[in-house]
Amino acid sequence: LSSKLNGVFDRLRRRGALNETDVAEALREVRVALLEADVALPVVKELTNKVRDRAIGQEVIRSVSPAQQVIKIVNDALVEALGGGEGDTGQRGLDLNAPSPVPILMVGLQGSGKTTTSGKIALRLRARDRKKVLLASLDVHRPAAQLQLEQLAGRAEVTSLPIIAGQSPLEIAARAMDVARRELYDVVILDTAGRLAIDEALMAEVAAVKAATKPHETLLVVDAMTGQDAVNTARAFQDKVGVTGIVMTRVDGDARGGAALSMRAVTGAPIKLLGAGEKLDALEDFHPDRIASRILGMGDIVSLVEKAAETIDKAEAEKLAAKMQKGLFDLEDYAKQLQQIGKMGSLSGILGMLPGVGKIKAQLEDANLDTKILKRQAAIIGSMTPKERRTPDIIKASRKRRIAAGSGATVQEVNRLLKQFDDMSAMMKRMNKLGQKGMMRGGLA
Ligand code: GDP
Ligand code: MG
Repeated sequence: LSSKLNGVFDRLRRRGALNETDVAEALREVRVALLEADVALPVVKELTNKVRDRAIGQEVIRSVSPAQQVIKIVNDALVEALGGGEGDTGQRGLDLNAPSPVPILMVGLQGSGKTTTSGKIALRLRARDRKKVLLASLDVHRPAAQLQLEQLAGRAEVTSLPIIAGQSPLEIAARAMDVARRELYDVVILDTAGRLAIDEALMAEVAAVKAATKPHETLLVVDAMTGQDAVNTARAFQDKVGVTGIVMTRVDGDARGGAALSMRAVTGAPIKLLGAGEKLDALEDFHPDRIASRILGMGDIVSLVEKAAETIDKAEAEKLAAKMQKGLFDLEDYAKQLQQIGKMGSLSGILGMLPGVGKIKAQLEDANLDTKILKRQAAIIGSMTPKERRTPDIIKASRKRRIAAGSGATVQEVNRLLKQFDDMSAMMKRMNKLGQKGMMRGGLA
């Protein structure tokens, strides 16, 4: 065997536990990914330390590389840090569990999306939760702000508090609560003014409104695109005002969302909602797992490891690996592989999860290799003699006709299968290069 092959088999044979080198190597890559995603350095350090302790000594899942397994462990730690741990689910989404009218106070810097989010929440509460919602703008600093909220209220088909010129934010807030009590509103959303940067006057104004209205939820709205600044903003609002939850907007942009992790770490407040566009229905619940995979930028590897851990039959895989080592991987084994793949979803789906195999994936998609075809291929292999399965090279024209007739397939389908078997061998080579366990024969044997 060539040395390259030895490397592959080494990896396949690898047993036991993740060692320090595996983990350190993988974590180097992870650290870069997290920093690129705007996760604050201290948060990155804390997370990677936690993962190191957890990963070293863990039993290796045989069908994935140690690096991939470490990435999955990082992912799980991220989900946990984002509030996805067990028993944490109750915090997600708005808490409206209070006597009506329930005040919700929206705070944050100017342009972060407070007014838009107020409209989005109002729409959701009216349409989905059948709540009677009153919107009130406390933004007396920008002339058009109150009109903006009025328009949004119109689009969300909820009421907005009539505008009275010259009132202070505190007066507007008091009037809003008054109207809400008299007219039996369920929820009052108080949209405050922001500033371009944090200043004492802003904090004092917001804190005064909060003291007067005693909101059940104080939602800090932050722009995901502001990265590290978002973390400073969150810290300041948590210190000076106190928030019960965070809404992260502009997740429809290309920010990877690392700010969510840092904000959560710094404030301890849960991320409750996501803004994913300018439209009023672009409001999403926060799913820690989705953001985690976005932060890490390796979500595909994570799902690959999950699927592998779930579905690959270890004993079967070991048997196949042993055969492969002896150069005995044949159509019989291919049929078994087909079954495994059937369990994991379509082959192109699996390939789509691996980085750098776009071309093969496209080819396989051309070949339309879905589960139905896999079943048909299994039937074709079933019509072969044991000898044919062991040495496919002997399958020439007359054998092809017999096999086709026996399985109710056409000769073209038999040809396609044989070609796919070859393609698969080539693909497995690629997968091995990527650190995947793979099955192969021919070229490498
Ligand atoms: P405010 O100053 O905090 O009240 O911010 P606004 O609600 O007025 O929003 C400022 C701008 O950001 C507006 O043009 C909104 O349409 C836009 N915006 C708000 N939320 C989102 C979002 O989730 N995604 C995108 N792409 N734009 C948003
Ligand atoms: Mg506004």
